[in-house]
Amino acid sequence: MIGIISAMEIEAERLKKAIQRAKKTKISGIEFVSGELCSQDVVVAVCGIGKVFAAVCAQTMILHYHPDIIVNTGVAGALSSTLSIGDIAVADRVVQHDMDTSPLGDPPGLLSGIGRVQLPCSEMISDMLFRICSEIQGIKCEMGIVASGDQFVNSAERKQYIYDTFEAIAVEMEGAAIGQVCYVNGVSFGVLRAISDAADDSSHIEFSDFIKLASATSCLVLERFLLEWKK
Ligand code: SAH
Repeated sequence: MIGIISAMEIEAERLKKAIQRAKKTKISGIEFVSGELCSQDVVVAVCGIGKVFAAVCAQTMILHYHPDIIVNTGVAGALSSTLSIGDIAVADRVVQHDMDTSPLGDPPGLLSGIGRVQLPCSEMISDMLFRICSEIQGIKCEMGIVASGDQFVNSAERKQYIYDTFEAIAVEMEGAAIGQVCYVNGVSFGVLRAISDAADDSSHIEFSDFIKLASATSCLVLERFLLEWKK
């Protein structure tokens, strides 16, 4: 079974509508929809905004559905200057840019207890997502670090800090939390994000204008991924 997590309804709408023999189960306030999508057994959940909801969702999904892999799909702000709205960022690693025990001498982003700043995504998932994106005409795709934090990034200064500190190509609010939960449970994971905004001063306006377009793009890529993923 493949687990799919989005933060917002709009990011998963198209996928949820296409699930056959859908069975809905509500746990801890999150609706999990299982069934068949693009010839795969799937469970799709909309977790809500931010790292806590994302972690609750991923852990619940793992304990209840035992997915082989989890893919987080949705939208993000661009940090890389070569990513534009509608393009795609595929994570090969995830970091939490707001995790900070640096006053104690730790590197920014260190996950104490795990002892790492970056958590690796499944190479097989990332490579396949990247290849599928690259095959879609008119869409640029980059693979690299995706940074998550409980903050909608809307300033050139914060954007620069995250870019300089973590060398991340995109910023969002859930991927690395899902990554951490998968990591501690030994579940392979991937993060696929279409760019909705440039994560600087106008990102709140761009986000509202382009969320629909970016969500449709990430769903399209995910559907192709499901069709190709081995059973
Ligand atoms: N109250 C709003 C909050 C949206 S927050 C709502 O419920 O619709 C923005 C969402 O898009 C988060 O899920 C995040 O993962 C992603 N995102 C897009 N652009 C972002 C940016 N510039 N900074 C942080 N997250 C961003």
